[in-house]
Amino acid sequence: MSTNEKLSLLVCGGAGYIGSHMARMIAEAGHQVTVFDNLSTGHSEALKWGRFIKGDLRNPEDIERAFDGSSYDAVFHFSALIVVSESVEKPFDYYDNNVTGTMNLLQAMRRHSVNSFVFSSTAAVYGDPVMDMISEEHPLAPLNPYGRSKLFIEQILQDYATAYGLNSVRFRYFNAAGAHPDGTIGEAHNPETHLIPNILLSSIDQGRRLKIFGQDYPTPDGTCVRDYIHIQDLCSAHLAAVDYMSRNNGTHCFNLGNGQGFSILEVIDAASEVIGRKIQYDFEPARAGDSPRLVADSSRALKELGWKPAYADLREIIETAYRWHKSPAY
Ligand code: UDP
Repeated sequence: MSTNEKLSLLVCGGAGYIGSHMARMIAEAGHQVTVFDNLSTGHSEALKWGRFIKGDLRNPEDIERAFDGSSYDAVFHFSALIVVSESVEKPFDYYDNNVTGTMNLLQAMRRHSVNSFVFSSTAAVYGDPVMDMISEEHPLAPLNPYGRSKLFIEQILQDYATAYGLNSVRFRYFNAAGAHPDGTIGEAHNPETHLIPNILLSSIDQGRRLKIFGQDYPTPDGTCVRDYIHIQDLCSAHLAAVDYMSRNNGTHCFNLGNGQGFSILEVIDAASEVIGRKIQYDFEPARAGDSPRLVADSSRALKELGWKPAYADLREIIETAYRWHKSPAY
């Protein structure tokens, strides 16, 4: 299996932010794509690429409909609940959706002899960083149910590789950002909790003032530092992963980030330059569970996957997001 052949790929969560960009990239690369989504947080307007099957990973019969009569070369799994604070309040929902749902999906893959799996994990598996540049060898100590739900699946994938020979790539995302450069798809969460969309929304809708959570972090300007990676770069790594699994058995994990940290105030400055006016904000108390600094060492992905991110410049990332937020499609 190589990405030069025409592949059939299942994208769970393909109506969401990352999944819709992935479905599009797969289709545009000439492969066949099937999207499976319960539309709980995804958007039917984002279902423009490939076949769509509405279903919920918590219902094995729904999953069976997606596998019945199809033979997939690999499965991408973006269907997850992702809000840290909500995971603290509703751990059952997070473990049910993120763990049980994934277990059901893996069972269907076993039943149908589909042996390649790309899993969306998160930098939240590292917890409080003990090194400036976080490599995959950093200790794993998630601080909340969301991070734990992802780490449990990572561990399960190691057991499945040993016992069942399941091949997988586990990607630990840093901060996914930006939108497709043509501005027709992008990020739209409700409620929106992410920094860049909230900055842009506050500039578009003057009634919506930006809040900065925390100003006393042990960082140069007191605000949290993050590593922003463009959505298209994130997706291109996933396609490279399919190729990688055809050459490498077992389970493999890779950080996905740009390796450059920006504080919240630096992101606001960059966004002001893109928009062409100052962004107003208020400081609020720090959010529970936010790490002061999360910056990736992604050298393993660069070397092993031959992955080449195209959007290393933060302004360019924000520009694509701004185009989307201003578009009638948003
Ligand atoms: N943040 C903020 N205001 C917002 C949204 C986020 O100050 O409206 C902060 C948040 O506390 C964190 C950083 O921006 O320090 C990035 O948050 P985001 O939710 O985008 O990603 P996370 O790093 O939490 O996955």
